[in-house]
Amino acid sequence: MTIREYLRRRYLKVTAVCLTLGCVPSLLTVHYAPDNTRQRDWSYAIFWAAVAINVLIVRMTPCPRCRVPLGAAGGRLFTRRWLIDSCPYCGMSFDAQYQFGHHSHPR
Ligand SMILES: [Zn+2]
Repeated sequence: MTIREYLRRRYLKVTAVCLTLGCVPSLLTVHYAPDNTRQRDWSYAIFWAAVAINVLIVRMTPCPRCRVPLGAAGGRLFTRRWLIDSCPYCGMSFDAQYQFGHHSHPR
């Protein structure tokens, strides 16, 4: 697995969890209390909070080598438009193989 695949998988997982959790209150409101405007406003607020948290987590994802949060670079990875091919801080290529810790099993 390359760094790029690892990061993309991680971003997709975070997004799936955040959006799923963020949608639950809205879905419940639509199904059980469609006329409750206050509850509807709250469920919308929770959804956008989940989106914001999602963006924050993506931006705080650290580079596997130098541990510096990739920030906006990570966000660009997430859009699937690969504008960068390496870490902007340590220069590690995202096409390199991702190492699971320093004590990985010998192949
Ligand atoms: Zn780095």
